[in-house]
Order: sequence, then structure tokens, then C-alpha cells
Amino acid sequence: PPLYKQRYQFVIDLVKKYKPKKVVDLGCADCTLLWKLKFQTCIEVLAGVDINRAVITDKMYRLSPLPCEYLQPSERPLTIKLYQGSVAEKDPCTLGFDLASCIELIEHLETPVLEKFSEMVFGYMTPAIVIISTPNAEFNRLLPGLNGFRHKDHKFEWTKEEFQNWAQDVCSSYNYTVEFTGVGKGPPGTEDVGFCTQCGVFTRSYQSEGSLTADSCRDTEHSYKPIYNVVY
Ligand code: SAM
Repeated sequence: PPLYKQRYQFVIDLVKKYKPKKVVDLGCADCTLLWKLKFQTCIEVLAGVDINRAVITDKMYRLSPLPCEYLQPSERPLTIKLYQGSVAEKDPCTLGFDLASCIELIEHLETPVLEKFSEMVFGYMTPAIVIISTPNAEFNRLLPGLNGFRHKDHKFEWTKEEFQNWAQDVCSSYNYTVEFTGVGKGPPGTEDVGFCTQCGVFTRSYQSEGSLTADSCRDTEHSYKPIYNVVY
């Protein structure tokens, strides 16, 4: 399968493993991952955030209930919400999630925005699990004809060491642990290069306190714009 599908499958496999009830996709773009996650029956709340309103609204109606789902409502409650907002900004609607996915997002963030993103996700949202994927710059030499970054909007592409150093810093600042893996293998003999996409799976090291969430809720202004809300 193409690499983007392997990345989505990577998230789906972790959802199957950890069975989170509330999942948010940061940088959800055209909601393809959300649309796949909808079929994971452990999930009761599914949310997506992207800074680009047009990219969200393009195909968001695929998240609507299918005729058969109206006719035969399932036992499980499911709410799907989409917001326009920046991952650099805090908003109470991002609180209370068990798992956050950030697929091919961080390399689009300028350094000061990346710092705010870390604080917002690991310091404010504090989900039990955070999944981050980003290109592995070392793999670029295996991509024929590539000259510079993989995409013109990328602000950086990191080596394995650069990503791992950033991730370890985040973990020590915000009390998480991280395991590294990836998707997209190179041809035999290139194992030292690593995966085409590098991934970090972050786990919160402490139990969350419900009251903390309530406090943060009161203290933060809304900055995200709701653009879609469906209750199954
Ligand atoms: N996660 C999707 C996927 O894997 O197919 C989309 C990845 S796309 C390369 C990066 C997305 O991040 C874009 O949809 C872009 O609009 C969004 N994005 C960039 N900066 C953002 C920010 N500060 N806050 C929220 N979303 C942002």
C-alpha cells in the first residue's frame, strides 16, 4: 500500500491496541484518517483540527451517518467534531482526549510554532497517548530525483537523531516516555537508513487528574472555530 495508507494503518493499529474512547487528529486535513477511525468501535468521541478550513470542509460530509446507520443506530454513542484552529493555540475543546495523532504535521511548523505545539499537546491537552510521524531525512537519498525537501511547505526534515533528541526533550519537559518506530521500509541492505516515515509513540507517565482538566477549561478562552458536529 502507499505510504500514507501505511501511516493511517499505523494509527488504526494503535487504536486497536489501546482502545481509546476519545481520539483527536491534529492536522486532520481532508479527514481521511478520521473517516477510517470512525469504524473503530471503541471510539465514542472523534475530533479533527486543522488550520485550513477549506481542506477540512472539502470532504467532511463523508463523516455523516450512512443511511443504514440512521435506520439501525448502533449501541455505541459516537460524536464527531471538526474545528478550524492552530495546534499552537490552546482551546478547551482539545481537552479530555485519550489519544492524539499528529501525522505529517510537525515538519510544517516553524520553530516557535513547534514549541507552542509541544506545550499545547504535552503540557495542556495531556492525552495518555500521542502519535507523531514525520519524514526521516536520512531516507531521502533513497528517493530518486528528490532535490531538497519532500514537500515545499516543509520547514525541516529531521534525521533519526534529530527527531529522537526533540522527542526526548519533550518527554523530560512534560513527563512522557517515547518509543520510536516507523513505516515504509527501504530495499534490502538499507536497514541502517531506517524507515521512510519516522514515528514516535509517546505515553504519559502519570495518571491524569480530572479536576485539572476542569480548571484548564475555565481558564482558557476558545480560539477554535467549530465547523462540524454530528451525533450518531
Ligand atoms: N495528517 C494528514 C495526513 O497525514 O494525511 C495531513 C497532513 S498535511 C501534510 C499537514 C496538515 O497540517 C495540513 O492539512 C495543514 O493545513 C495542517 N497544519 C499546518 N499547520 C497547522 C497548524 N499550525 N495547526 C493545525 N493544522 C496545521
